[in-house]
Amino acid sequence: MENFPMEKYNTFHVAVNSKYFSEFDSDESLYEILDFMETNKLSHLVLGGGANILFTKDFDGIVIHPVSDNIVVDGDIAVADAGVVWDKLVETTVSMGLGGLENLSLIPGTVGAAPVQNIGAYGVEAKDSILWVEYAGVKDRKLHRISGKECKFGYRDSIFKHELKEEAVILRVAFKLTRESEDYPYNVEYGALRAKVSELGGVSISNIRKATIDIRSSKLPDPAILGSAGSFFRNPEVAKEKLDGIKSRFSEVVYFPLENGNYKISAGWMIEKTGWKGRAIGNAAVHDKQALVLVNKGFATGQDILRLSDSIRHDVENTFGIILHPEVIIL
Ligand SMILES: Cc1cc2nc3c(=O)[nH]c(=O)nc-3n(C[C@H](O)[C@H](O)[C@H](O)COP(=O)(O)OP(=O)(O)OC[C@H]3O[C@@H](n4cnc5c(N)ncnc54)[C@H](O)[C@@H]3O)c2cc1C
Repeated sequence: MENFPMEKYNTFHVAVNSKYFSEFDSDESLYEILDFMETNKLSHLVLGGGANILFTKDFDGIVIHPVSDNIVVDGDIAVADAGVVWDKLVETTVSMGLGGLENLSLIPGTVGAAPVQNIGAYGVEAKDSILWVEYAGVKDRKLHRISGKECKFGYRDSIFKHELKEEAVILRVAFKLTRESEDYPYNVEYGALRAKVSELGGVSISNIRKATIDIRSSKLPDPAILGSAGSFFRNPEVAKEKLDGIKSRFSEVVYFPLENGNYKISAGWMIEKTGWKGRAIGNAAVHDKQALVLVNKGFATGQDILRLSDSIRHDVENTFGIILHPEVIIL
């Protein structure tokens, strides 16, 4: 399809067009699209739910959108197609008594995007369960299977953002899960999650899922109602000296120690501290319940949201001497 409106295909609901738009529901149909792309010398974007993307202009290439949505569970291994809605996979596996993904309930988007930025929430990351990823090579047109280790996962990071950027179209992902039992390693290290789980009657994977959904629904905007892409910025990593400098001025700074001896400072806390929480520039605003989330209050353009993010980055840099980097992909 040509000159395709993208408003419904990005959770910021930014109204841009893409030159071409094509869905694939099988490996074969993807290879046909790749041929078309090559013949017409088109740049491409693989787009799942558009929940981690900010379009700032029309896309002058082809958007490739997976709609394949099979989930096959064999023992404790679940293999899901790229087009499966992420939360459908979590719901399916939890309802079968298989644990591993429950803390990642209700994260918007598709299975195919989960390894790209190694989605994470409430102390768990996709990498903890990913066994392998299968992708089609854009140049060599071959089917590749790489292990979780070969994906080089990091904090919101993977090989798909570096060496394999624009080279891999993820087709399916396998997850190694754990059947719930007495010695199942529940992760309720987050105080709010622990409290909610106990309110629900005690720890179980289905209660962790319910609690996660409750907490997320109360804090984060529902993209169907208020456009956003979740956390807009990454939490910056700093050395101890830098943190100490900030602590001497702001004793209440929110931070987390990392295994490498550095610290992660809460970007949301810094944004709140600079007075941006709840503020807007036109129709682009900082969410009033979670300062890390930028929202589209109406008809904001991608440029409006980008301007807001630039103003926030400017103020955070002036106040803390730290440059915030977006978690969202800006196109
Ligand atoms: C309200 C809200 C809350 C959120 N909360 C969280 C959270 O708690 N934790 C978290 O980690 N994220 C969170 N996010 C971000 C988002 O949900 C994740 O990044 C998710 O993985 C995006 O999935 P998607 O299918 O929409 O990806 P898209 O936005 O469509 O794409 C993201 C990137 O992945 C690439 N990609 C997508 N599919 C494929 C594929 N099949 N093959 C190759 N590349 C592909 C795209 O090219 C792009 O680079 C949140 C977003 C929203 C809107």
